[in-house]
Amino acid sequence: MMWIRNFVGGEFVDPDENAGFDDVNPATGQVHARIHEASPELVDRAVIAARRALPAWARTPVPERVAVLRRAADLLAERFDEFAAAEVADTGKPVTQARELDVARALSNLRTFADVVATAGLESFLTDLPGGGQALNYAVRKPLGVVAVIVPWNLPLLLLTWKVAPALACGNTVVVKPSEETPATATLLAEVLAEAGLPSGAYNVVHGFGAGSAGGHLSGHPGVDGVTFTGSSEAGIHVMRSAAARVRPVSFELGGKNAAIVFDDADLAATVDGLTRSVFANTGQVCLCTERVYVQRSVFADVADGLVERARALRMGSPLDETTTTGPLISRTHRDKVLHYFELARRAGAEVLTGGGVPTLGGDLDSGSWAEPTLWTGLTNVDAPVREEIFGPVAALIPFDTEDEAVALANDTDYGLAASVWTTDLRRGHRVAQAMNVGISWVNTWFLRDLRSPFGGVGLSGLGREGGASSLHFYTEPTNVCVRL
Ligand code: NAD
Repeated sequence: MMWIRNFVGGEFVDPDENAGFDDVNPATGQVHARIHEASPELVDRAVIAARRALPAWARTPVPERVAVLRRAADLLAERFDEFAAAEVADTGKPVTQARELDVARALSNLRTFADVVATAGLESFLTDLPGGGQALNYAVRKPLGVVAVIVPWNLPLLLLTWKVAPALACGNTVVVKPSEETPATATLLAEVLAEAGLPSGAYNVVHGFGAGSAGGHLSGHPGVDGVTFTGSSEAGIHVMRSAAARVRPVSFELGGKNAAIVFDDADLAATVDGLTRSVFANTGQVCLCTERVYVQRSVFADVADGLVERARALRMGSPLDETTTTGPLISRTHRDKVLHYFELARRAGAEVLTGGGVPTLGGDLDSGSWAEPTLWTGLTNVDAPVREEIFGPVAALIPFDTEDEAVALANDTDYGLAASVWTTDLRRGHRVAQAMNVGISWVNTWFLRDLRSPFGGVGLSGLGREGGASSLHFYTEPTNVCVRL
């Protein structure tokens, strides 16, 4: 059986046979590798390696640092299919999506943040002093230090490189903790970064679980200077507590319960197309996915019918089949959670327009963790399936009458990550998009991203922003130099 190993101080660590756990392909339930769970001592070694590597990497001129990232992107591009295959084996997602989204975005992350850091300027003020004279104020930006990068399983390489690329480009060193469900691509990335010329110790990988395992040991480690975390709101709260002990900065990209608002003047064909993606992409396992669809009453039936037709046309099947559109959920445990919400929805009186169960796909696939694309009506904002993040291929359709009502319904949530507004009225589109209490608000589209723009959430959806200049701010500490002229 293949081992997925920890990477510490520039070297892969021989696995400890007694500290292994299974890496399961959720499409088939088959174990395809063993993962070496890092002990507290190994996490400690990784943090020490990152600290040793920090001064030299932080002093390395920016053009040399970003050249390493660009070479890493080129090397990753050469191994594109290998990375896509590793992502498919860990997640079960269709290979077409692994190629077009996950690995392609990883390349963009490496290249975009190389550009962002290469072209970053300094903030400066020429200050007129009372009585004459001036002072020159400028802020130099120094690396934050050793950064712990803790990421989830839904878009493993994409979300990892989104953080690792700016962190390294800014001169930090990192210890990354990929999800226990999806350790492969973070481990392959160690090879690519080393070959690209990243010094030993600047990128370390520790494997394991959250609290009481590698994630908990890492986020609470006194040698870590900052924690960037993507995952559930619940785990974020734990990580924040452990970071608080030494007043370390945190950046959190957490859960969502995202709304779409469809007005009666929307281009309905384009809207149904957009909603199909936003509800079912990655089997609903994207933090930005829509789980609440508010539809103006006069077009409610049309939108519901259109979405049902599209949901039924999705193709579950082997991830390697190029015609498969929809993969499994990440694990049986996660499927149990999703099915629990299916049951709660039924008990709350939902009408199941389509789906609501487990499909029979035949062969090995029936040992996987599949769930049917599902749509409900008949629920309201008080019901748990409409309030809590499910993270599955499911949405509740809820009618509204007025714009004010739609805005109030969409904002009636503890989360605040994303929203989408569907209308052909330009003024209304801007007005409603701005009224959403979220980090990102789309009009007539979904998941369209410019990596230079700020990304994050409010409320239970996160703290801080990353992307473009926001990443520079998180991954550096400014020192204001004030010169009396
Ligand atoms: P999770 O919180 O269970 O785990 C995320 C990572 O944190 C994993 O590596 C895990 O091992 C680690 N972890 C868990 N508990 C920890 C603890 N106490 N201390 C330190 N590390 C800990 O999340 P998940 O199930 O892997 O991912 C799904 C969640 O991620 C969903 O809630 C989803 O909305 C969220 N997510 C958010 C974004 C975003 O950008 N806002 C993006 C993707 C996913």
